Amino acid sequence: MIRFEDIQETVKGHHPEADLEILRKAYIFSAVEHKGQVRASGEPYLVHPLEVANVLAEMRMDPICVAVGLLHDVLEDTLTTPERIQEYFGADVLHIVEGVTKISKIPYATSEERQAETYRKMLLAMVDDIRVILVKLADRLHNMRTLKHLPEERRVRIARETMDIYAPLSGRLGMAKIKNELEDLAFQYLDPPGYRSLTARVEDKRKPARAFIQKVRATVSQKLEEAGIEATIEGRIKRLHSIHQKLKRQRIELDQVYDFVALRILVKTIPDCYAVLGILHNAWRPVPGRVKDFIAMPRPNGYRSLHTSVISDEGHPFEVQIRTHDMHQVAEEGIAAHWKYKEGRTGLGADDDAFSWLRQLLEWQQEVKDPHEFLNSLKLDLYPEEVYCFTPRGEVKMLPRGATPIDFAYSIHTEVGHQCVGARVHGKMVPLRYKLQNGDIVEILTSSGHKPSRDWLGLTVTNRAKSKIRHYLNTAEKQQALEIGRKHLERELRRFDLSLKKLDTKSSPITTLAQDFGVGQKLDDLFVAVGYGKISARHVLSRLLPPDKLAESPEAEKPRPMVDAVRRFLRRRDERIKVKGTDDLLVYRAKCCNPIMGEPIVGYITRGKGVSVHSVDCPNVRNLVYDPGRRIEVEWGSGAEGGYEVRLAVDLEDRMGALAAVTAALASMKTDVRDMQVRTFDDNTGSIALTVRINDLKHLDKVVKSVRGIKGVIDVARQSVSSPGPT
Ligand code: MN
Repeated sequence: MIRFEDIQETVKGHHPEADLEILRKAYIFSAVEHKGQVRASGEPYLVHPLEVANVLAEMRMDPICVAVGLLHDVLEDTLTTPERIQEYFGADVLHIVEGVTKISKIPYATSEERQAETYRKMLLAMVDDIRVILVKLADRLHNMRTLKHLPEERRVRIARETMDIYAPLSGRLGMAKIKNELEDLAFQYLDPPGYRSLTARVEDKRKPARAFIQKVRATVSQKLEEAGIEATIEGRIKRLHSIHQKLKRQRIELDQVYDFVALRILVKTIPDCYAVLGILHNAWRPVPGRVKDFIAMPRPNGYRSLHTSVISDEGHPFEVQIRTHDMHQVAEEGIAAHWKYKEGRTGLGADDDAFSWLRQLLEWQQEVKDPHEFLNSLKLDLYPEEVYCFTPRGEVKMLPRGATPIDFAYSIHTEVGHQCVGARVHGKMVPLRYKLQNGDIVEILTSSGHKPSRDWLGLTVTNRAKSKIRHYLNTAEKQQALEIGRKHLERELRRFDLSLKKLDTKSSPITTLAQDFGVGQKLDDLFVAVGYGKISARHVLSRLLPPDKLAESPEAEKPRPMVDAVRRFLRRRDERIKVKGTDDLLVYRAKCCNPIMGEPIVGYITRGKGVSVHSVDCPNVRNLVYDPGRRIEVEWGSGAEGGYEVRLAVDLEDRMGALAAVTAALASMKTDVRDMQVRTFDDNTGSIALTVRINDLKHLDKVVKSVRGIKGVIDVARQSVSSPGPT
């Protein structure tokens, strides 16, 4: 168990002249308040705040922040009042403790709405006082380290949340050390078999890797000494979770992971960094295209370093990272290293250029109302992989990989984006879907009066461009829907000798109908809902007229046999799904994701073809091509079990044994196989594309789990088809 005295020593080492009295007070306070409480591990509760404080102390945080580490759970888990904390420790400490408590109280749910809300709150807390998030991350780190003591269901939930929210967030704040540990821990609990098998495979390679590092290191060390450069040389083996991701993303074997081992060279000055790079390239052949200069162009999270890959004497490529000690500290600790305690300072100063993205993100988040959209755009900001391009004047624009000229145009100015009609790269015309490359000089061609189109949402990747385009489209489309809805209602009303003008008085029920239907506050919102087809005009009339009068209308039940027949013919209505609040809409399951019973689903009103129902995880729903205004709530009806065809892709390590085992497993689960295609590769690996008949989500989970458990199976993934966009 960590001792309080050790924490005190660590803080003193980093802040020699600071007053540590507050720490001692916080320690005693916390010990008294948590007295008698026990953690799931059986240890006294106090161990937890002590460990959290220790993480913060090692991050060089100031005494106030470390004190908050000791106190972070007293508001939530003890009877302490805010007034007492204020009295003992002052307003600053109370403020941060309250911030941490608030974040902890956000109920966790896998739903995107909640996740987006969590992020929003965290971002706001961060701007308020960055220490709130640092304490929360330290808290989560210790909870993850001791996760094994919790029951499985909670373990998985916490690990999921860590992987989805806390790890990316710490990464975005540049805190690589914490991010790495969080990811490896979460991976371990989210995919135990995958974790175990990868650990074993990596273990086999560890010994030769160490020998290799030692040898290369000796050579480098000697060359640097000859050149008179003082350096610290470390070797590292890539972390499990990032190997796992790489294998999955690039579908390669462990032996093909380029940066399985890497050398890290820490020097005193920037000129030394470039000198070392030169020495390395002189000694070994560099791999073309692998040199990256993050010193001249730092990553958005503040990371600076030189990267290169060279080919060893034995012909193995390996990665080398070169940076100064200061840069290294920032690379490991990120925002915590930037954060320097100044009296009275809480948030990020104007001088923290490295975190301007945070301010921008907050500006955008105020524009983005839809939680799905917010989360999607946020994810882009959390996992950047960037390209650097130039304006014709030589100004650098950093954009995420996959960015197009439209993204580039919006990064210059909203109007340049809206009016973008084409682009030249290095003087040559390129299509708007062109993916920008490092070093591209991009010239945007504009035409005044040109307007963005919906296709652009699929062509852009940046938060900024998407939100600007969406904002433009939504405003334009909403206006259109409003007019259609108003006209339509007006026409229907006229049949009963009514008009909006006559109705639109304060006493008429129509004024509150938008609220009654839950589509908004104002009459205009009602028109928009009718215009989009969310509410039928008849539905509105039924609230305005007595039922007998409605039935009297000569045209009331006018049948439209032809139209209905055509609609039925065009698309079979899926009786298994219900649209909440209405039953006269045509519903069908979207082909792209083929949702099955039990899966969370969302409906989308298409133009004239009814409601297409997607899985909430469907890439087409997630990638923002869809307009949140046309989203509609749907649910599974009774009798929805059975008969869903699902496509699965199974990757095999050993095609001989595994193939037979997969077929046997499916048969034993009485799972009907509709189609099966096997591909084999030279290295005795293979893949199976399977189409199986599935009853519901539980059934699918069972099938995936058991196939995944078969020896020689690397991975099982459900396949979805990405379609070009909404209809
Ligand atoms: Mn805690």
